[in-house]
Amino acid sequence: MAPVRSFVSLLTGSFSTPAGDNPTVAMVEAAYAAMGLDARYVNCEVSSADLAEAVRGARAMGWAGFNCSIPHKVAVLDQLDEVAESARIIGAVNCVVVRGGRLVGENTDGQGFVASLRTVLDPAGADVVVLGAGGAGRAVAVESALAGATTVTVVNRDRGRGEDLASLVAAQTPAAAAYSPWTPSYAVPESATVVVNATSVGLAPHGDALVDLDLDSLRPGVVVADVIPNPPRTRLLEEAEARGCRVLDGLGMLVNQGVLGIRLWTGQDPDPVVMRAALSGIVG
Ligand code: NDP
Repeated sequence: MAPVRSFVSLLTGSFSTPAGDNPTVAMVEAAYAAMGLDARYVNCEVSSADLAEAVRGARAMGWAGFNCSIPHKVAVLDQLDEVAESARIIGAVNCVVVRGGRLVGENTDGQGFVASLRTVLDPAGADVVVLGAGGAGRAVAVESALAGATTVTVVNRDRGRGEDLASLVAAQTPAAAAYSPWTPSYAVPESATVVVNATSVGLAPHGDALVDLDLDSLRPGVVVADVIPNPPRTRLLEEAEARGCRVLDGLGMLVNQGVLGIRLWTGQDPDPVVMRAALSGIVG
């Protein structure tokens, strides 16, 4: 007799609005196909008013988990049974895992950044300058600190948001942290070993935009990373590379947070090369 086959797929997806321009589905479904898994990732348009019902629906339908993107990363906290330590510190969840019917919130954005960083530098002992203190800035600053960075300097236009993030990192992680005002043509401190653009500057359709930096303060050998996934090759990365810096694009961070999500949902490791190839065909 042929073995009994299950016609129930493992279900995952994303809740956000607007959802139409989110390419994660292509990356994750390419990974599932390459893994030979009967698994789906459904990109769902979910309004703020419907978030709670969408989450209840995912639980009722036995989903393995889902991503939350804009504007649900903070609001989803109210729907969860448990929140992982780093997500609690960051104050936002972008990845939910259903374990034994319980909803566990994780933040894989910053962990994806750190995984990308590890391909060129051990974050332990790094002096990290984070430009920006929004959702991405918070995730990058907190996870870099938890991964062993010695110092985290937060540079942000809005002083209140920047100071809040620096205080959070100093209070909740072993790293030393300080806020630095974003003065015109900001000069990166000589001690910096990693500089991260975690602002939205440079995102398509404004791909030519450049953060207000003294580019000549980027010393050769410093790691310059951008969270902007589209276009992957931002002007900042081009200018940094021309000055002998080591560069990391935002596509790497996006792929790595996807790797972490798939691992949490399926217990298996996807192929990041397949995932990056799927995204590269769409962005840039
Ligand atoms: P938020 O709206 O939460 O924060 C935006 C940040 O950008 C704030 O710090 C804001 O500063 C700063 N900013 C905006 N315009 C300027 C400017 N002209 N000059 C200086 N600073 C500026 O957005 P997110 O943090 O959620 O997202 C930021 C970017 O990160 C997006 O482009 C997104 O695509 C990317 N991202 C990438 C991910 C990846 O996996 N690669 C994952 C998550 C996000 P202020 O506080 O002063 O307004």
